[in-house]
Amino acid sequence: MHSWVAAHNPSLIGRDFANAIKLRINALPTNSRLRRGRAGDRYCRAGCRCKETLNHVLQNCPRTHGKRIARHDHIVNNIKAHLEQKGCQVFNEPIFDTPVGKRKPDIIAIRQGSALVIDAQIVGDSVDLNRAHRRKVNYYADNVTLVDGIKALYGVDVVRFYSTTLNWRGVWSQESLKPLLDERVIPRSMIPSLPTKVLIGGLACFNFFCKSTSSRARV
Ligand SMILES: [Zn+2]
Repeated sequence: MHSWVAAHNPSLIGRDFANAIKLRINALPTNSRLRRGRAGDRYCRAGCRCKETLNHVLQNCPRTHGKRIARHDHIVNNIKAHLEQKGCQVFNEPIFDTPVGKRKPDIIAIRQGSALVIDAQIVGDSVDLNRAHRRKVNYYADNVTLVDGIKALYGVDVVRFYSTTLNWRGVWSQESLKPLLDERVIPRSMIPSLPTKVLIGGLACFNFFCKSTSSRARV
C-alpha cells in the first residue's frame, strides 16, 4: 500500500518509515492532536499564538524555518542535478530587477536555445494545488520585464515557465507535474521520489521542532 515510500528510498526504514506514513496521514502527535477535546494548552509550544497543528509546525512555525528551507532546497537541488546531467547549463536563484520588484526563480536552465524557469513550492494541505501552481507560474510568466531580461541575459528566444508544486503530504499538483514530464524537465522516476523527499524533509522539520526545548513565555 505504501510501497511508493519504500521503493524509492531503501534507506527509509524502521521508525523513519513509520513516521513518514504518519506524516502523510497527519497522525504525528502535535499538541492539538494530543489534547484534542481536553481543557488545556493547545497552542504551539514554540510560543506562537496559534494552534499547534502539523500544518503550522511544517509550514508556518518560525522554529522550523531553517528545516523548511532545507526541504525546499533538497527538491530544487535534485532537479538541478538532473538537468545538469542531461547537459543543461543551470543557474541557481538568478536575480532580476523588474518594475514590480526583484524576481528570483529557483532555477533557470538553458536547453537548446530555450530558458526553462523552474520554481518549487511545498504548500499547506488545505491549499488548492493546481491553483497554487498557476499562481506561481503566472507570477513569473506575466512579468514582461522578467521575460525580456531572461531572453537578453541568456541569449534565448523562448522562455518556458514551470512550477514544482506539492503539498507537505507529498501530493503533486497534477497541472504542475504534467508539463514537467511532457517536456522532459524531470524524469518519471521523480514522480514518486520527490514526494518521498518532501516527507523526509517534513519529518526533519517535525523532529527538530520536538527536540528543541526552548519555549518562549506566551504573551
Ligand atoms: Zn509555532
